Amino acid sequence: MFIPDPEQEKAAILHRYRSLLTMLPPGNPDDKILVRKAFHLAAEAHKTMRRKTGEPYIFHPIEVAKIVAAEIGLDRISVVCALLHDVVEDTEYSLAEIRRIFGEHVARIIDGLTKIEGIFDQASSSLQAENFKKMLLTLSDDVRVILIKLADRLHNMRTLDAMPKHKQLRTASETIYLYAPLAHRLGLYTLKTELEDLALKYTEQEIYQTITEGLRDTEKERKRFISKFILPIKKSLALQNFRFRIVAREKSVYSIWEKMKNKGIPFEEVYDLFAIRIIIDTPYEKEKVDCWSVYSIVTDHYRPNIDRLRDWISMPKANGYEALHTTVMSHSGRWVEIQIRSERMEEIAEKGFAAHWKYKNGDPKGTVTNVDRWLNRLKDLLKNAESNAIEFMEEFQGFLFTDEIFVFTPRGELRNLPVNSTVLDFAYAIHSDLGNKSIGAKVNHKLAPLNQALKSGDQVEIITSQKQAAREEWYGYVVTARAKSQIKTAIKEEKRKFAAPGRQKLENIFRQAGIEVNDNNINKLQNKYNYGSVIDLYYDLALDLIGMKEVRSTFHTLTKAGWFSSIITRPFRGRATEQETLSETIIRQMHLQPSNKADDLDLTKMSYEVSDCCNPVPGDEIAGFIEPNEAIRIHRAKCPVAIALMAKYSNRIIKTTWIDKESVGFPAGIRITGIDRKGFAKEIISVIAENMDLNIKSLHLEANAGMMEAVIKVYVYSTNNLHLLINELKKMPDIKMVTRIEV
Ligand code: MN
Repeated sequence: MFIPDPEQEKAAILHRYRSLLTMLPPGNPDDKILVRKAFHLAAEAHKTMRRKTGEPYIFHPIEVAKIVAAEIGLDRISVVCALLHDVVEDTEYSLAEIRRIFGEHVARIIDGLTKIEGIFDQASSSLQAENFKKMLLTLSDDVRVILIKLADRLHNMRTLDAMPKHKQLRTASETIYLYAPLAHRLGLYTLKTELEDLALKYTEQEIYQTITEGLRDTEKERKRFISKFILPIKKSLALQNFRFRIVAREKSVYSIWEKMKNKGIPFEEVYDLFAIRIIIDTPYEKEKVDCWSVYSIVTDHYRPNIDRLRDWISMPKANGYEALHTTVMSHSGRWVEIQIRSERMEEIAEKGFAAHWKYKNGDPKGTVTNVDRWLNRLKDLLKNAESNAIEFMEEFQGFLFTDEIFVFTPRGELRNLPVNSTVLDFAYAIHSDLGNKSIGAKVNHKLAPLNQALKSGDQVEIITSQKQAAREEWYGYVVTARAKSQIKTAIKEEKRKFAAPGRQKLENIFRQAGIEVNDNNINKLQNKYNYGSVIDLYYDLALDLIGMKEVRSTFHTLTKAGWFSSIITRPFRGRATEQETLSETIIRQMHLQPSNKADDLDLTKMSYEVSDCCNPVPGDEIAGFIEPNEAIRIHRAKCPVAIALMAKYSNRIIKTTWIDKESVGFPAGIRITGIDRKGFAKEIISVIAENMDLNIKSLHLEANAGMMEAVIKVYVYSTNNLHLLINELKKMPDIKMVTRIEV
């Protein structure tokens, strides 16, 4: 094992600390004393700790402090906080001690840094735009917190090599998902680009390599092209006495990858691997007119694509970016992006607002006094009323892979799934048991069916039931191979359990129908209904999905009863699992009186149907018509069909009235959502019609992937009555929501 020399290490630590001091922004000398104190305290606090790289831990806070000072351009207080950022979190020092030594301001920032850890590492999961924004703002009432956090993440990304693979992936995904967009939002362009490139290096190693190698291999050719391309521009600019420099900026690896993905092209076909930047040295007042003059010169030599002209000088981007962008056609027929900007704009674009405020003051030494103004501006940027929460979050949806989505578990763990993955895919991705028992989910706290496709950023909580088991139709709900194979296994297992009871049922049915129980007959039934295996047949038998009717039809032993029940739905006389239909409910609300001829009919033994030509509802005057098949069809008395029938067959009419006319109240609408199961409709109807004794006007029930939604119109007497009904419905098992809706 490598045992470091303590003396050498001490020297290395001091060396790093001194290099930090050279980067220290100008400011209050007292704050310099605080920086020294912070360094000593952090070095002491972390002295027994090492990073995964094996280096002394204190290297990390020093490097973060350097980024804070040199790359973001923050003040001395921020440097102090960067040095201390992991002390309260990881060592025995308390916030109270920090407060005592460094004062309230530093303590508050350290507190924010400790708490914000939670936002990014766990809670960020609930990427409810509004929440994320709120959390960022409340936990970081000083924006320094966010900036130091970004510096912390940048250093961790720079040293990610030492981490185990799975940690690398998670850290890199989070970086793409949260940190890079945040840096972008704050106008820290360079930082954002580095974060993105580093993340790509870990999430898509091969692609990262292909692109970096591709860039290296094409560098010579590119340089030749560029120098030839800019030559005429250079000459003209010089001729017009511009002070300028022209640089060719390679696009970031990440942005090249984005382009490859979006256009579906290989590296070789990405033509704009670089942009030409023309930076002019010109006073603030002349910036705009001079940039446009440069544009004019460029387009004298090369034909511009008008659609690609972007004027971010007249209308700077929300994050403060200013420049003139255009794309022109080179003589070799290649589009080239040109960015025209002043030195001032260049520095803002590269370094963010720190540079901006430096310029505003006209005094580079004045940076420190302006940092606070800049920070306030950043806070405004985060709060920005004009950018609503959705827009804000959209910036956080820029994903690394178009074919992959990132979703969160309730505990905030990140999972990647292929695009189009559903709730059920997610459940199976976590555990096969979770998948098998899932009945639905809460996606961002809202109830969702198993087949709902997930989007990046969704937080998914699977709802399970011990009664649940994998089903055939689930194959249609999933896209991942993993889920499919797990469903297959589960169904096989599940079906086996039903083999014995299914077989038992079959034997009973056969006996009842007078059919011999033998393999031959079982095969006959199996083949007629296309069952792949006898296990499948037993399963459906056990679940009553196939029964006497099918047996009879297979063996041609149709009885009158069998035929009858297949065409007429009788209220409450079918199988127990059958759901009551709307007509059945309405019929139950009616009182039938036999008139004239009908007295030889036993009305209680007849079937009734509500006619769909006139859809009578309670309160309507109605008449019953005995159909040739001996079922009674109910029409409104005014229905033209009924009138015609009465004229022709008056002896088949029976007088029909509603049981209680008084019960007709005013119509109200109710929406019920819940987890679907057998007999739901019947139960709902029984609550409304029996428990509450109300009349249903209409009932629309839709089951989708294990979730059920019912929209019911019902006649109630009063709002009290309605609320009572809603409360009754809420008591039903598996009901998730009952709300009143407009009718
Ligand atoms: Mn840290």
